[in-house]
Amino acid sequence: MNPKKIVTVIGARPQFIKASAVSAVLAESDQLCEIVVHTGQHFDANMSDVFFAELGMRPPAYQCAIHGGTHGDMTGRMLIDIEKILLLEKPDAVLVYGDTNSTLAASLAAVKLHIPIAHVEAGLRSFNMRSPEEINRILTDRVSRWLFTPNNEAGTHLLSEGASSDRIHQVGDVMFDVALRHGARVTSDGGVLGRLREEHGVRAGEYCLATIHRAENTDDPVRLTAIVEALSHFSRDIKVVLPLHPRTRNTLAEQGKLQALQNAVVVLAPLGYLAMVQLEKYAGIIATDSGGVQKEAFFYRVPCVTLRDETEWTELVDAGWNRLAPPADATSVLQSLQAGLGRMGEDIAPYGSGDAAARIVERLSDELA
Ligand code: UDP
Repeated sequence: MNPKKIVTVIGARPQFIKASAVSAVLAESDQLCEIVVHTGQHFDANMSDVFFAELGMRPPAYQCAIHGGTHGDMTGRMLIDIEKILLLEKPDAVLVYGDTNSTLAASLAAVKLHIPIAHVEAGLRSFNMRSPEEINRILTDRVSRWLFTPNNEAGTHLLSEGASSDRIHQVGDVMFDVALRHGARVTSDGGVLGRLREEHGVRAGEYCLATIHRAENTDDPVRLTAIVEALSHFSRDIKVVLPLHPRTRNTLAEQGKLQALQNAVVVLAPLGYLAMVQLEKYAGIIATDSGGVQKEAFFYRVPCVTLRDETEWTELVDAGWNRLAPPADATSVLQSLQAGLGRMGEDIAPYGSGDAAARIVERLSDELA
């Protein structure tokens, strides 16, 4: 029997990381085969290629070059290209991840062609409809046949929105799979941490790792200034290391704030996955507006301060691993950072047991093959 065909659509950094877990299992399957489409949403070598290389993924079968522009412009161009690919490939299912414009475009293209959609990381909610991610994930969940949820809460959200329970499959978090598989091989020796130790005196357990990339922070000068000032002040207490997302770098450069930030904190280019994991694992504290980095902080049992008004990963706040620091002003963010240092949370295990990818492939095989 011919294997059933899955078209996976990915385009942004966290999606390459999540997909690496499922693609590895699909590669072993004789019931399913996978065609990967890369929309091009993230395209720099250090935002894209490095993840395929480090996480052992084959190059995508289709490489689009769609990035930049407004949300409508980007999503619309993706929709056109993905529809063409789906018409050509005629897959049995489309597999999407998370909450980006690539996720939404693939879902819209697939549902109108009556191709069933599998959504990995379904059911997350921030309840902030001003955030593009929230819109993308709600619409994708609404049209997906398989809702693969990472935790209990995601399933509760889906049920309360009327999703039928037979569509919801709590498999655990694929990022946890990746952390167990690849993160475990990272030690404190050498690598980016070794270089930072030599060049900047950054020492394991004694620095803050920060990331900033969400539009709600980068596109709002008041919030961005509050974050930058708080990190700059915090660097008097503890070294701050900031691998800077291209969007944030461009905005800070345009506003003339990049140089002052570079004088206060160690600003790096975006890192590959393994370098990032090394800095996460040995950080004293992590400050971030990333969804994935909040969880990874917990995987490595590092206290986290989330530079947002809300989080989708509320169990980490409840358990004391994470604290919200809405970046309204620099003083309150700085206080949260100082309070977060050394604060460990309760021992919880909300994200499954590291076999989310295997469970996703098993379910799709059972229903498609
Ligand atoms: N990440 C990385 N290099 C970096 C910053 C982040 O490899 O310089 C990884 C990080 O470890 C996590 C993922 O990218 O696995 C998170 O992606 P991002 O913060 O871009 O998006 P979000 O999780 O907020 O959707």
